[in-house]
Amino acid sequence: MSSTHPNRHRDIDHAVLRLLREDLVAISRRGYERGLVVGVSGNNSLRVPGTDLVLIKATGGCQGEMDTADTVLMDMDGQVLDEGRTPSKEWRWHLGVYRIRPDVGGIVHLHPPYAVAFAVADQVPLLVHTAGRAHLRTVEDVELLPAGSQELADAVTELFADREVRAALMREHGTITVGPDLRTAYYRTEYLEDTAKVALLAAQIRGVSPGRLPLARDTAPYAEVTG
Ligand SMILES: [Zn+2]
Repeated sequence: MSSTHPNRHRDIDHAVLRLLREDLVAISRRGYERGLVVGVSGNNSLRVPGTDLVLIKATGGCQGEMDTADTVLMDMDGQVLDEGRTPSKEWRWHLGVYRIRPDVGGIVHLHPPYAVAFAVADQVPLLVHTAGRAHLRTVEDVELLPAGSQELADAVTELFADREVRAALMREHGTITVGPDLRTAYYRTEYLEDTAKVALLAAQIRGVSPGRLPLARDTAPYAEVTG
């Protein structure tokens, strides 16, 4: 067996793993402190670089009070490698995205209120500002399916199979953003929430619904990132 799993738990550099656990805690606390999630909701994860292993938030805890004991190491088959710890119930779609997207190194799932307001209204916010277009490029949506279910895992995985997809709204629920690392994935959630907030404010100024905001033609939509 070990020859088919060269990067199992015992082979990891434990100092690196500890830093990654601390990273997951720091980013998770930041999202909670910024008001991008409440209570015990949301779950972030990261891929241990160069391995088929993932660190994900443990089930049940508040991200604002998280510490490294609330991180759970799993393999791509869903096996828990931290004895006695239980991963977030959403581990199925996290692993689904990592399996199908080798370019993804971090996933952030939060409930940011402006973005969720659009998801409740069954709308996807327009990318109304240059930063949103540059960093997100597009926003997709996922239908409402039971939390933790295989159906939800399949729907999310299918959506993110397209390598262009970086951000999605879950109907009446929350957001998912991915990135090459956890920090980039987190920043994409901030951009998604910001574009939703600004879209709503701009729509109020214009007196139109957010989906009908007149936008300028952007001839270099990715300039902020690539320039
Ligand atoms: Zn959620």
